[in-house]
Parts: sequence; structure tokens; C-alpha cells
Amino acid sequence: MKLLWYKLDPASLKLRLTVGIALFSTLGLCGLASWTSMRMQQILVSTHKDNIKYIAERFPHDVKIYSDMVSLEEGVQKAVDNLSNDNIIMWAKSDRNVVTARSQILQNTKIAQVLLPLKNVPPIPQVKDLEGRYWLLCATPLQVKGVNLGKFYIAQDITEDQKMLLRLLRSLTLATIIVTAIMITAIAFYINRSLRPLKRISQLTSDISAERLGEAHFNLENPPSEVKELAETFEKMLLRLSQSWEHQRQLLSNVSHELRTPLTIICGYLESTLRRGPNLTEIQREALTTAASEADRTVQLLQDLLDLARADSGAMHFQLEKIDVHELITEVVAMTKQYSNHQIIFESNKSNLEIAVDKNRCKQVLLNLIDNAIKYSASEYPITIKSYLQDSLVIIEICDRGVGIPLQQQARIFERFHRLDEARNRAGGTGLGLSIVKTLVEGMGGKISVQSQLEKGSTFTLKFPGV
Ligand code: ADP
Repeated sequence: MKLLWYKLDPASLKLRLTVGIALFSTLGLCGLASWTSMRMQQILVSTHKDNIKYIAERFPHDVKIYSDMVSLEEGVQKAVDNLSNDNIIMWAKSDRNVVTARSQILQNTKIAQVLLPLKNVPPIPQVKDLEGRYWLLCATPLQVKGVNLGKFYIAQDITEDQKMLLRLLRSLTLATIIVTAIMITAIAFYINRSLRPLKRISQLTSDISAERLGEAHFNLENPPSEVKELAETFEKMLLRLSQSWEHQRQLLSNVSHELRTPLTIICGYLESTLRRGPNLTEIQREALTTAASEADRTVQLLQDLLDLARADSGAMHFQLEKIDVHELITEVVAMTKQYSNHQIIFESNKSNLEIAVDKNRCKQVLLNLIDNAIKYSASEYPITIKSYLQDSLVIIEICDRGVGIPLQQQARIFERFHRLDEARNRAGGTGLGLSIVKTLVEGMGGKISVQSQLEKGSTFTLKFPGV
């Protein structure tokens, strides 16, 4: 159901608003329903009460008039006969609890058995449930011409009225429940609709890449003015962020460029001094070798930074051409043999696989991955490269049986400067290699992924559309 969008997140604004408004509305509705039912009961009963009060006040007066013609006791019976009807029943009792007068209807023994034995009847009319019927009852002392005639009782059967009232109350309760349910659904729907622009802002924001921050526009349909203002402020902030991101990128690119040239010269001088310096002492040679290798590493780092800056600003261009995968890998394997004795096995079950890539960039990718495989595995374990076709995709796998990568780190190793703990990184490196590899592979329309198990090895998989 639609309500599932809450996913019962207690911190969700939608849930909080819906529960809050629904709670207050339900309380309000229930309060109104209770008040209405109380008032209905009051109005219904009060008419009967007034009638009974009137009879109770008038009764002694009537008895007095009749007693001028007949005896007091007969006068009471005459007044009872005169004021009784089908609904209003009366009777009088002496102080010794003997019934001295009664309405005709009390000859019917069933009603008489219920009413006549009643004691402690209040002087103000009250509703009582007696054997399934509702009676409005009151009893007042009867004194006429200074003579105490005991107590005078009035009872009115209001069962039908009471039943009608109960039916009305039941309908009112049902109506309240239905209205509450409809109201809660309507409130939930309305709140969901009102908060939709916020959801859209968050969706659009998560889709904006770092490179397109400045182009972000939230085209919201008929948003509330507060949300519109928020969206505009957000767009301005993204624009400022994009400008500062652009400045940083520019700075990084300039600094890398400016530093790379003098460092390359230093590197050249150090290497030529090393080559042409037969009189160097062992310590001097060692110092120069370290300086040359650090300078070389820094030049490589600057080159990597320049590559990334170019890729970020969209200035990296790929010269895509049809390449035979088998030839490419054979060439790269031959290149690695020049600086490493690590055994590399190339398995290919189809020799004429072709992909459209930039040859030099693709070589750079493969060299980087093979270089890592060599760095992070012991020399006795060979590195295997496989190429094959799967679902019209050309797959290249670089597998090693080295230290492996912990599962939680596998997604992060493609981030810039992300390196695993120092202990396993004695091999050196900058933490930029894999992010460049990913940028290059994706720039050429491919994908890269890794599967790895600690102490068992890693497999880096490249996927390119076949041509
Ligand atoms: P680095 O220059 O440090 O090698 P990379 O971006 O190439 O930087 O690699 C990032 C991290 O991923 C490395 O520090 C290393 O810990 C881990 N890593 C990369 N390749 C492998 C591999 N084949 N086996 C184990 N760990 C690897």
C-alpha cells in the first residue's frame, strides 16, 4: 500500500506530521462526539425530568382539592388516577411501607413487582435500569393539610427513548471511526504530496556528480514558497561549491604542471651523475640513488595528479581505435618482463577479441593492475591474465594469489589516495593508481570491479563492449 513509503522510520517528517495531526484530529473528533452524545442524552432526559418535576409539585395540590370532597386517602387515589397515563405511573406509600394508592397499570403484577418494592428512590428524577427497562424515578414526601401521608412515587418508562438514544450513540461512534480513518488517510496523502518537492530535491542532489555541480537545477512542479526558497538557496550554494571546486582543480593542475618540469630535470641530473660518477663513494651513491628514486616517484605522482585533473575537467581525450585484445596483453606482458621476474601466465580462449579503446591508455591500465598484482603477491605465486567473451562483453581478468583486500575496503580502493594500512604498503605507491585506472576505464566506456579474499588473492575484472 501507499503508506509503505514511510517504511516506519520514526524520525521521518512525514510519519511525525501524520501521527501528530492524526492524533490531534482524532482527539478533537472523539471529544466532539462525546460532547454531542452527552448533550443528546441531557436533552432527551431533561424533557421527561421537567414533566415529572411538574407532576411532583402539582400532586399535593390536587390531593388537597380532592380531599375537600372525599377523604384524604381517597383524594390521593383520585389524584393518582387523574395524573397517571400509559407512561407515567404513580403510587403512594405510608410511613409503614404500605401502598395506599396506585395507578391502574400497577394492577399488572409484573410491573408492580418491579416498582412497588423499590426503596431509596431519590427526590430528584434519575434514570434506572430495572430488569431490562429504563425508568425515570423520583419519590417525594407527601404532606397535605398538615397530615403526613408517607411518600409519593412517580415512575416514567423511557425504554424506547433510551434505546433510540443508544442506537444514535452507536451510529455516532461508527461515524466517528469511519471519519477518523478517512481523515488519517487523507492527511497522510496530503502530507506526502506536500513533501514531494523535498524528496525530489534530495533525489536530484544525490544524482548530481561533482563535475556538474554548477549545472544543477531543481525544476519543481508548483512547490510551496518555503521549499522553492530552499531549492534556490541550494542551487546558489551548489554554484559556489562548483566554482571553488573548479579553482581547486585549476590550482592542482597548475601546481602539478609547474612542479613536474623542474623535478624531471632534477631526476635527469641525478641519474646522469650516478651513471657518470665513477669516483662516488658508496654512501654518496646510496644517497643519490635514494634521491633519484624519490624524485622519480614524485614525478609519477605529479603525472597521476595531472591525469586526474584533466579527467575531472573533461580535458582528457581518448583516441579510440579497434585493438586486438590478445596482441595488447601479449605486448603489456612483454613490457613487464623488462622490470620484473614475476611469472605471468596469459590464458585466452579466443584470439580475435577486439575492443575500441585508446591503446596507450589501455596499456597504462593493464600495466598498473599487473604492477599492483606483482607488488601485493609473493614472487613464487604466478599472476594470471585471462581474456574471454561473455554476453557480448570482452572480459579481461588480472588474478593474483597475494595478500588480498578486506571486503569492507574493496569498494573504497578506487577512491583517490585510498590506501590500506601502512604495514601492507611497504611496497610504496601513492594510492592514486586505481582511481586513475577507474577513470581511464570508464572514460573508454568500460567498467572495472574487484573480487578478493584475504590471504587468497585478488581478481580485477575489466569489461569492455566488444566490437
Ligand atoms: P598504490 O599506489 O598504493 O598501489 P592503488 O590505487 O594502486 O595505490 O591501490 C590502492 C590500494 O589498494 C593499495 O594501497 C593496496 O593496499 C590495495 N591493492 C591494490 N591492488 C591490490 C592487489 N592486487 N592486491 C592487494 N591489494 C591491492
